[in-house]
Formats: sequence, C-alpha cells, structure tokens
Amino acid sequence: MPRHAYVNGRYVPHGEAQVHIEDRGYQFADGVYEVVPVFAGRLIDEEPHLDRLAYSLGELRIAWPMSRAALKLVLRELIRRNSLANGIVYLQVTRGVAPRDHRFPEHSRPALVITTRRARPISPAHLANGVPVVTLPDIRWRRCDIKSVSLLPNVLAKQQAVEAGAYESWLIDAEGCVTEGSSTNAWIVTKDGRLVTRDRSAAILSGITRQALLDLVEVEQLIVEERRFTLAEAKAAAEAFLTSSSSFVLPVTRIDGAPVGDGKPGRLTLKLRDTYISHMNHAAAAL
Ligand code: PMP
Repeated sequence: MPRHAYVNGRYVPHGEAQVHIEDRGYQFADGVYEVVPVFAGRLIDEEPHLDRLAYSLGELRIAWPMSRAALKLVLRELIRRNSLANGIVYLQVTRGVAPRDHRFPEHSRPALVITTRRARPISPAHLANGVPVVTLPDIRWRRCDIKSVSLLPNVLAKQQAVEAGAYESWLIDAEGCVTEGSSTNAWIVTKDGRLVTRDRSAAILSGITRQALLDLVEVEQLIVEERRFTLAEAKAAAEAFLTSSSSFVLPVTRIDGAPVGDGKPGRLTLKLRDTYISHMNHAAAAL
C-alpha cells in the first residue's frame, strides 16, 4: 500500500503530493509546523502539540486551516492509511498561496500538508555510548518560541554537526549560555545532582518532550532548575542529554570533543529515558 500525504483536503500518494509554487511557505518560509510522535499507532501528547500549533499560528496571525477537532480526525486517518505504528506525524500550515508580495495577502487560505514517517531506530551505539555535540553561536532570530518553518540556521547548525562527526549542535547565545540544539532541547545534570534546562522564553522552542519530562520528574523529587546555563557549566556537568519528539531522551557524552563526566551515558539520563518511554507506553495504552 503506498504511503499517503494529506494536502489541502485530499489524501494523495506521497510521491505525487505537491503544493503551488507561490505557496508562501515555499517563498517566504511564512508558515509553522509540528512534529507529533506516534507510538503503538497513537499520537503522544497530542493536546500540547496542538496547543503549541495554536500558539505558533496565533503569533504569526495565520488562521487554522480547519477546526482542531477536524484536524485530529485527519491525523488519525493518515496514521490509519499509512499503517503507522511508531514514528512521527509532520504537519505544516502556511499562510497559503498568493502572488509574491511581502505583505500579508488579503484573501489567501491557509495551506495544510501532513505527512508521516516511520521511526528511524536510534542506533544502539548512540544509546550505549551517548552522542557527541559541538557548539556554535546561536545566529537565529529572536522568536525561537514560534515553531516556524524558517529553519535555515538550524539546518546549517545540524550540517556543521554532521561534518564535525557530531550528532547535534548546541547553540550558544551572546552571554555564553546554551540555548538549545538545532532540533532538540539541551539539559545537564550538575555534579550535585540538579537537573538543569534553559527556562522557557523566546530564546528556545518550548519542547513538548522537555515539558513532558519536567512534569514526569516533578513526582521524583529531583531538584530541577529551569534557567540559563553557561557552556562552561555544561562542560563541567556530571551528565548531559537532549530531548525531542524523535530522539526522546538521548545521552550527550561529549561536548566539543571533551567528555562529559566520565564520558559514559549518565545514570540519571538513562533513568529519565526509561521514564519518558514508560510515559509513551502509558499514554498509548490509555487512548
Ligand atoms: N528545539 C528545537 C529548535 C526543535 O526544532 C525541536 C524539535 N521540534 C525541539 C527543541 C524539541 O521539541 P519537541 O520535544 O517538541 O520535539
């Protein structure tokens, strides 16, 4: 059975799915997106993902392409058609098609594209050894809280990581603090066992995995600090890890070539990965 995409009201074979050349997403990156994890055929943390979509759309003054309830039905139908068990749903809303002009068009309809992708299994070596990150200046705009499709600095940062043999780039602001990764949130565990991740602001995307983990650790009585942390603090940390909807919780064991702690995945990090995976299992079973 061919994989399908959903494009502006129609389910079409993925290979034939197309948008117009004057879609403002294509010409101006004038659009937003979401990536929702799918586990055992169920959407995980769907509501916070749709809340974040609502926020991104609202900040850019793009209308919903359909009601939230209808969108939920389409997401389920695409998962069903594509027999997706584990993976992600990608959905993108742009301001729509209009003759090229920077100002907002008066009469465009928001355009909606949805695709699915099977999970790429995380390499056993990444899990066993953790992953290296390199650091780069954060050259992005000042509204990283909006999940905009304008991802060129993120693309360049990821490519630099790949070319340096690393898994991810951690981005450093003008004060020498870590904001986040090119497509992941950044965390450290201090030598005295405090869990630290950057506070929510326009400097980072408020990751749904980040928030889910914060909610989960609340019951574990860990000391959690949502605050800025410097690169020096990260390099001196006992453990480090990253979070995202497709990587879940992944140990970071090298920063710019230097080992974090003993250079092995941290105990707390691995525990938090298990905690997050149990959360997905419970969420999928409860639906
Ligand atoms: N930061 C950035 C810049 C991202 O692109 C992503 C992934 N979309 C994340 C953080 C992680 O967010 P989430 O946990 O919602 O996948």
